[in-house]
Amino acid sequence: MTEQTLTLDQIVSLSKRRGFIFQSSEIYGGLGACWDYGPLGVELKNNIKNRWWEYMVHSRENVVGMDGSILMHPEIWVASGHVAGFHDPMVDCKESKKRYREDHLLVYKHPVKEDLPFFAFVETAPEEVEKKIKKATKGTPIEDFNVVSLSSIPVDERGRVIGPDAAEPGTLTEPRQFNLMFKTQLGALEGQTNDIYLRPETAQAIFVNFKNIQQTSRQRVPFGIAQIGKAFRNEIVTKAFIFRSREFEQMEMQFFIPPTEDDQWYETWKAERFRYYTDILGIKKESLAWEPHPEDKLAHYAKAAVDITFKYPFGWQEIEGIHNRGDFDLSQHAEHSGKDMSYRDPVSNETYVPKVIETSAGVDRSVLMALCAAYSEMEEEGDGHKRETRSVLQFHPNISPLSVAILPLSKKDELVGPSRKLEQALRSDGLRSTYDVTGSIGKRYRRQDEIGTPFCITYDFDSLADQAVTIRHRDTMEQERVAIDRVGEVVKEKIRNW
Ligand code: ATP
Repeated sequence: MTEQTLTLDQIVSLSKRRGFIFQSSEIYGGLGACWDYGPLGVELKNNIKNRWWEYMVHSRENVVGMDGSILMHPEIWVASGHVAGFHDPMVDCKESKKRYREDHLLVYKHPVKEDLPFFAFVETAPEEVEKKIKKATKGTPIEDFNVVSLSSIPVDERGRVIGPDAAEPGTLTEPRQFNLMFKTQLGALEGQTNDIYLRPETAQAIFVNFKNIQQTSRQRVPFGIAQIGKAFRNEIVTKAFIFRSREFEQMEMQFFIPPTEDDQWYETWKAERFRYYTDILGIKKESLAWEPHPEDKLAHYAKAAVDITFKYPFGWQEIEGIHNRGDFDLSQHAEHSGKDMSYRDPVSNETYVPKVIETSAGVDRSVLMALCAAYSEMEEEGDGHKRETRSVLQFHPNISPLSVAILPLSKKDELVGPSRKLEQALRSDGLRSTYDVTGSIGKRYRRQDEIGTPFCITYDFDSLADQAVTIRHRDTMEQERVAIDRVGEVVKEKIRNW
């Protein structure tokens, strides 16, 4: 299926239908931008996290893990800059009553025609943009317009802007700042409490534990600390399913380096992180891109930053940020805590505050990427020779929720007994497996295709005599006969050589 025709609605509906992802608190009408992962979703999500952990921590001597608490000392968020600076500028539309992030709005502005209004859009398909502009300007070609950011439009010209969901100009308000951190209280009694925050990123737990971890793990700089955990942001504009949630998970690694080595390690980690998506998760290179942050838009701490973006059905969007953070974080914590955060190299005796290269990826955005990248529709001959469309999730077996499905050809005891035994054996052998005996074999194949199980194993009447089963490959539908006592080994080899 072509990327152009894949819609987010198809992914949302498949996710719900097959038990990947549900709206949080659904029976109470739902809770905005919070999501629950069902049986298949949690397998997919755990596989993504486990592959990340193996790739980032287990396969390297110079990266160790940690798991920090979500609630931390409130001064941490002052030191990190989040109390003063972690907010998004939001504009409201008085006509449509909708709210937008100012930096998400793109404005189409005619360079010469003074009488034309400006048109603001947010993540809109090009045909829709063209339709709206042509209609309102009596056919002025869209190519004649310059596309600029809303913030670049001078205040006295903002009255000419038509909001994305409005028909009249001048209905967008001035931007207002919204802090994205959730506040809660520590302590039992109201009035005797201290305000604290749900962490908006996992990184700070790593920075404040730098010395504990360096000393106890006896690592020498350069080395990294990795962590996977929940983060919370009171996002104002939430859409696109699990892409932007209020509660989400991050997979972050902070790599501590000598002050002169930041450029070289920045390049190393860029290459390593790209490789994780292509080689481990099986995402096609063409669906990924680099999006450097322009120098004037860098976060207060960053010397350089680049995003890895993925082509979602709603456009190219960030999945991971790689940042050269300099020594901003350790220096800030040294200043605010009064504790020395410097490092003395045991060989050279040189003492310095290490610089940091950060890799920060979203688990939920990776799940959405995996679903979008895997989704395809294939035509095949169905029951009664009718052409049928089957939807297939072509996951890489490294992340598919299940590896094999065992399907006995009939419900008769003589097949159920031994095929159940085979399923148990594969399960004990470490393969994530399921057993399905309900419906025609064609239907059962399609059920497995739709949840992305790479191999189906059919146990038929011949199996009783020849002690062999048929392995069917999800993507090619090719079938091969394999001896029962070799099935586990053959499937594992196929996964290794995928
Ligand atoms: P955006 O510009 O899309 O808001 P960001 O630049 O604020 O993202 P970072 O602070 O760099 O994001 O966070 C690192 C990663 O955490 C992102 O690349 C993304 O994968 C994930 N992430 C951030 N915010 C959210 C969210 N609200 N929902 C899901 N994932 C998120």
